[in-house]
Amino acid sequence: MAVERTLSILKPDATRRNLTGRINAALEAAGLRIVAQRRIWLSTAEAEAFYGEHKARGFFRDLVSFMTSGPVVVQVLEAEGAVARNREVMGATNPANAAEGTIRKLFAESIEANSVHGSDGPESAAREISFFFAAVDIVG
Ligand code: ATP
Ligand code: MG
Repeated sequence: MAVERTLSILKPDATRRNLTGRINAALEAAGLRIVAQRRIWLSTAEAEAFYGEHKARGFFRDLVSFMTSGPVVVQVLEAEGAVARNREVMGATNPANAAEGTIRKLFAESIEANSVHGSDGPESAAREISFFFAAVDIVG
């Protein structure tokens, strides 16, 4: 399997509870290398653009207001099979369904405030990485 990159976000519920170090430790323990990282506060327009694929979903407005409710940490993770590996360590979207030991099982508050985002495929990873990072920002 090829070395790959994926986009990760530590969401406002995680920054609010000072969990960025513990989540980064879990990512690194899963073999994911943090090759770029920045703490930012998303504007409404940025959150709407980032989650554009969910525009028609009933939870879209709530998701945008949650994602703009505090700072987030955006990061690029690198590993063999990084997209799937990150999805595995994140756990299911709804923490009630997340496997033991996953980040969402350990830390998520709810299906919405679920602590982390991870790209769901190679194409979305490329699109989401370029949404936040220039090539020169990523140091592999
Ligand atoms: P993410 O894209 O954040 O990695 P995901 O791929 O597991 O999560 P998606 O279906 O892409 O889940 O949903 C994006 C985000 O929207 C979820 O992480 C969660 O914060 C929120 N969300 C998803 N489903 C619901 C829901 N039924 N009610 C409220 N919020 C939801
Ligand atoms: Mg998703």
